[in-house]
Parts: sequence; structure tokens; C-alpha cells
Amino acid sequence: MTSASNDRAAGNAPLAIEYAPAPESKAVVNIRERYQLFIDGSFVPPLQGGYFPTINPATEEPLAEVALAGEDDVDRAVGAARRAFDEVWSPMPGRERAKYIFRIARIIQERARELAVLESIDNGKPIRESRDVDVPLAAAYFFYYAGWADKLEYVRPGPVPGPIGVAGQVIPWNFPLLMAAWKLAPALAAGNTCVLKPAETTPLSALLLAEIFQQAELPPGVANIVTGAGATGAALVAHPGVGKVAFTGSTEVGKQIQGELAGSGKRLTLELGGKAANIIFDDAPIEQAIEGIVNGIYFNQGHVCCAGSRLLVQESIADEVVERLRRRLATLRLGDPLDKNTDIGAINSAAQLEKIRRLSKTGEAEGGISWSSGCALPERGYWFPPTVFTKVEPAHTIAREEIFGPVLSVMTFRTPEEAVQRANNTVYGLSAGVWTEKGSRILWMAERLRAGVVWANTYNRFDPASPFGGFKESGFGREGGRHGLEAYLER
Ligand code: NAP
Ligand code: MG
Repeated sequence: MTSASNDRAAGNAPLAIEYAPAPESKAVVNIRERYQLFIDGSFVPPLQGGYFPTINPATEEPLAEVALAGEDDVDRAVGAARRAFDEVWSPMPGRERAKYIFRIARIIQERARELAVLESIDNGKPIRESRDVDVPLAAAYFFYYAGWADKLEYVRPGPVPGPIGVAGQVIPWNFPLLMAAWKLAPALAAGNTCVLKPAETTPLSALLLAEIFQQAELPPGVANIVTGAGATGAALVAHPGVGKVAFTGSTEVGKQIQGELAGSGKRLTLELGGKAANIIFDDAPIEQAIEGIVNGIYFNQGHVCCAGSRLLVQESIADEVVERLRRRLATLRLGDPLDKNTDIGAINSAAQLEKIRRLSKTGEAEGGISWSSGCALPERGYWFPPTVFTKVEPAHTIAREEIFGPVLSVMTFRTPEEAVQRANNTVYGLSAGVWTEKGSRILWMAERLRAGVVWANTYNRFDPASPFGGFKESGFGREGGRHGLEAYLER
């Protein structure tokens, strides 16, 4: 090895590679000036009128006007879904339903570039992620659940379970297309019909999915999309024609919905916030662990419910890990989400940027030491640099509250028992990461961590066959795998 590569192997020299711009072409998407609601197989204007803008968070430019669904529109959509349930979708044999769902999966693959570019423009996430993660996984969830549609008798022992009816589904802005797939694919496979409410800031990929439903000749009313803000979601959740509510979003709104639905007889699953511990033991493969830390908290600008936002490092290697992490972060490229070399895209909205700034200031005020990578921020748009807080105490706000941004809080531990105690010291319980060479220690930790998912020597890995969901205030119910079907089947 040369001395330069020795230095690099030792983590002493950051790789300063310059990249020429490599923008993905926007020509593949056709963004309309105005989008309507998708009800009963057609795009229809809202009954009371009203449109809201969606913007590109990387430039602050308006992209399109989107219909604002009122209570009467939600009522129309639920009515269409009910008719489609009674007359078409639930009487249809599972093997026939499967054909439609397989067709949707294949069209998502065929139109993958279009979906990825649109998602990056509306959400701000790097094209590398929408292209390699969001869109392929969305197709994978439709493929996976298409395969279940004619095998529902194997979901659990006993009589063949039937569908519930109309599912009302509300999703957040961080993985707009993927969350739509997580919701729609199992519901449709189980024989339910759906009304989906995308987030206000990211409605466009769900509306492109509606076009895909038309292209797949999905019978009218089987899947409906009502766009709008929180009030539209609230109207959907409250509608008496909805038999099952699936909500992904903040713990605050989730608690509110749980209170409202108590005693209504509606089935409910909640996928809420998180404050996951990513735990690095002194025998961990350090280079890989550094990549896992980066992927854990800076993937999708940290807008990830299961983000590894609390780094717990064994004390003996803490200084080395933080030093290497800083060097690695200095090489991340922040900027144009459509550039294929971009690692860190835009923060999704002005409101989210404000929240990240406020919590970071609180972190400093409470005694945490903040370090940010020196990357230049574009003038327009919403941006926040990759940031690491050291000297964080478990009682600090940034060790307890979900920031939902590219901000990591570092703490240390001495023994495995202390790592478990610190990791579980949270109101959340969605996920955790463990980095160690010892298989026995991975199993020992996994048994004790109160988290729905525990990743070992990796982070933020998803597979449609694997259930995902929370403990405690991270919610209840599982999405993915056989478990994900339970939420959409009669008990
Ligand atoms: P949010 O404010 O709770 O919004 C989530 C969705 O609910 C949006 O579509 C929102 O509409 C809608 N909504 C708002 N108020 C409502 C109400 N009263 N009734 C019904 N629907 C309502 O959450 P967010 O801030 O957008 O999303 C970030 C949160 O989602 C984070 O806490 C994150 O951890 C969580 N999340 C969890 C998972 C998981 O799988 N566990 C996955 C992703 C995100 P508008 O956006 O249009 O206002
Ligand atoms: Mg937008």
C-alpha cells in the first residue's frame, strides 16, 4: 500500500473527489398545472372547489395546483369504494385480484424513471434514493402482496379470513410513493377497497399511481385518492363508512385518532414516530459501522421514522468513531436532488426546516456540542447540513424528541447492559441497530431491545416479506410480510 492509501485506510484523509454535474432529465415527467381527485376510477374536481399548491422544496418553485378534498369529496370516495367492495372486488376470486396487483407492480417498474424523478422533484429526496430505494421497493411490495391474494387461507390457521371493507389510509410526506404501496398493496390483496390521503406537501406520486391504476384497468372505485391537508385526513378517519383506518405519521396525530376511534368498532393500525438507538460495540467493523451510521441518520435527510438518530458508542472507541464519522460526512455532497451524485437532498418543507433548526438550537442551549459538515448550502430552497451533536446527555431534548432531520445525537456506554438500558430509555420503540462481530451478542441484544425491528451490522434495510412496526408510542400493528395482512382481514 502507498502511504496515501495507508492514510485513507486509517481514516486520516478524506477523499476529496470533484464530480461534474450529472442531472437526471426532467423530460421524462409531465407535471400538469392542476391535479384533480381520483374517485371511482376518474379524475374529478372537488365539489366545493379549492386547490392548494405543491412546491419543489429544492427551489421553492410552485409545481402544480392540487385539489383540496372536503368532507363531501371524502364521502363520494368512500361511497365509490363501498360499491366497488360489494359489487366487484370482494366477490372476485383472489387469483383474479392478484392479476391486477401484479399488473400495477409491473407498470411501476416500467414507469420507474418517471416516478423517481417526480418523487425527487416534489419531495426533495436525492434521485439516487428515489431511483434505487423508493420506487423499486414500491414495486416489490405490490409484487409481494399480489402473491398473497389467492393464498389468504395460509395467513393463519382456521377458517379462510375475509376482508374488512373500506380502508381509510393516511400517509406522511417522507416516502410518499412507498408509503402508498405499503398501505394499498396488502389492503387490495386481502380484498378490501381503499381511500388514500397523501400528505399535503407530496401528493404528486400518489396521483401518478392513480394513472397507473387506470392503465392497469383496476376496476373503478377499488382505490381512490383524495388529496388535501390534515382536515381531509380527519374527515376520512371519521367517516362512518370506513371499517379500517391505517395511519402513518406523527405520534401526536396518531394519539388523537386513537382517541377519536375508541368505541367506534373501526379497526386501527398506527405507524408513528421513533428515536432509534444505533449501537456500536468496540469489536464492530468500524468502516462498515461508519457507513451504517451515515445511512442510519442521513438517508432521506433523516426524514425517516426508523432513523438511527441516537448513536450509542462504546466509550473506548467513541473518539475514533466520531472523528471518522466527521471525515466521512465531509465527503457527502448536498444539493440538487436530481443530480445523480447528490447524497443529501432538500428538507421537505419550510415548517420541517424550522423544526430542525429549533431543536438544534435547543440541543446547543442544553449543552450539546454541534458539528456540521462544511458543505455549502444552495441559496434557494430548504437545506440543513449533516450535523453531529456530541456531549449529549440522555435527559437532553435532542436525545428524547424526534427531530426528523439530518441531526445525530452521540452518547456513550460501557457495558452491553448499559447499552440496552440507554437504548430502551425512550417513549418510542420502532427500530434499533447493533454493530458487533459477535453473533451471540447480537441475539442477546435483540432479545432485550424494545423495538419492532433490530438491524444487525446494517441499517434501514427493508423487504416486503419482513414485518415493520412499533412498540410503545411508535404505534401498533405491523406492515409487511404475512403480519401485514392481518390488519386488513376480519378477525
Ligand atoms: P403528521 O402531521 O402526523 O401527518 C401524517 C399524515 O396525517 C399527513 O397526511 C397529514 O396531512 C395527516 N393528518 C394531519 N392531521 C390529521 C388528523 N387530525 N387526522 C387525520 N390525518 C391527519 O406527520 P408528519 O409530520 O407529516 O410526518 C412525520 C411523522 O411521521 C414522523 O413523526 C415520523 O416518525 C412518522 N412516520 C412514521 C412511519 C412509520 O412507519 N412508523 C413512517 C413514516 C413517517 P398533511 O400532511 O397534509 O397535513
Ligand atoms: Mg412538494
